[in-house]
Amino acid sequence: MLCFAGLVLCACGSADKAPKSEGQPSAAELAKAKPYPLDWCVVSGETLGEMGTPVVKVYQGREVKFCCKNCVHDFEADMPRYLARLDSAAAGQIHQPEPKGQGG
Ligand SMILES: [Zn+2]
Repeated sequence: MLCFAGLVLCACGSADKAPKSEGQPSAAELAKAKPYPLDWCVVSGETLGEMGTPVVKVYQGREVKFCCKNCVHDFEADMPRYLARLDSAAAGQIHQPEPKGQGG
């Protein structure tokens, strides 16, 4: 006769809301996406990495990097325009804006 020892795992804990996924692209998505051609944020013109770890997204099979989450928001609000701008920048038609000097 088998005796069943019931192990009950109590998964109690705080039911606080986990932060929503930021929609990070998967490694597979990134692998097949067209690489981001710039080293600056196409939205703000900031050099990537200067404001922390760049935010990486994939839109329409293209990798896009942003200096911060705010720029992701701006980009998504006007995606066709920024994608066109990205194309122009990749083609060398536009260049990284000069960083805003503060004070002087
Ligand atoms: Zn930014």
